[in-house]
Amino acid sequence: MAKPFASSADLAEKTETLEILADGVYALTAEGDPNVGAIEGEDFVVCIEARATPAAARDWLAELRKHTDKPVKYLILTHYHAVRVLGASAFGAEHIVTSDTTLKLIEERGKQDWDSEFGRMPRLFKQPEEIPGLTYPTQTFADEFAIELGGDRGRLELKFCGRGHTAGDIVVWHDKSKTLFAGDLVESAAALYTGDAFHFDWAGGTLDKVKAFRAEKLVGGRGAVTKTVAESDAAVEQTRNFLKGMIEHVGAAHKRGGTLKEAFEATHAALEPQYGRWPIFEHCLPFDVQRLWDEFDGIDWPRIWTMERDREVWAQLQG
Ligand SMILES: [Zn+2]
Repeated sequence: MAKPFASSADLAEKTETLEILADGVYALTAEGDPNVGAIEGEDFVVCIEARATPAAARDWLAELRKHTDKPVKYLILTHYHAVRVLGASAFGAEHIVTSDTTLKLIEERGKQDWDSEFGRMPRLFKQPEEIPGLTYPTQTFADEFAIELGGDRGRLELKFCGRGHTAGDIVVWHDKSKTLFAGDLVESAAALYTGDAFHFDWAGGTLDKVKAFRAEKLVGGRGAVTKTVAESDAAVEQTRNFLKGMIEHVGAAHKRGGTLKEAFEATHAALEPQYGRWPIFEHCLPFDVQRLWDEFDGIDWPRIWTMERDREVWAQLQG
């Protein structure tokens, strides 16, 4: 029997958990659904990631509002993917901050990505009719951006660590609590989505820079929050090993003149025993292998996913 497309058959609600990682530092995890976070300044709140729709964002804000009623001054988006940005209007944020490259990607492929992600993960799009349009940042930066939190709350450092999950991912570092919000550059016991990624950069220098923060608490894109430097290191290396496994098996098939389908089957067989039960493994792998195959073909800038291309690749590899 053919596998249902992407996550279209994944309809079970996840249990959400709000964790207070330090005074005024929050993360909401949801059993492998995209994580979000928030950090209190003296007079305002900074939110990290926006979820897929305003309704989904309001659910998160309702939890956050049990702890603080300060206004949202900054909404930081680690990258352009629809399930993390299209709920932005619910925050009423004064500033929406991304990297320069994320803005470029929203302009180039935001609409196609919205349609693609809606088709792949319909459950995350609660009340999609409320989405007012694409989310655009109001402030962007190339490499570094700092936010002073006021009082004795420290500061946030936003940093571009190199190309990885997308061309424009950033991380958010709170030095005072040694907490790193790493976006989709690090996953904790969840499969990687690499359909828009730069596998070689990500597995090398980019993850090295992420690891160099020595985070005591690391909030990745999906999965549990780590609570020690050793756990954070393990999450980074687990992410790297997933990438290296893909590079090894897709690379071998490409080198011997095999087909994309052969590359997919070899990679699936090699990774499934270790990662097969993690959230979104079956969903992601066809798109992941296609993008890495393109990189081996010398295609540097990721091709744009559309609903049509999604279905074609799925039918070819997972159907
Ligand atoms: Zn993403």
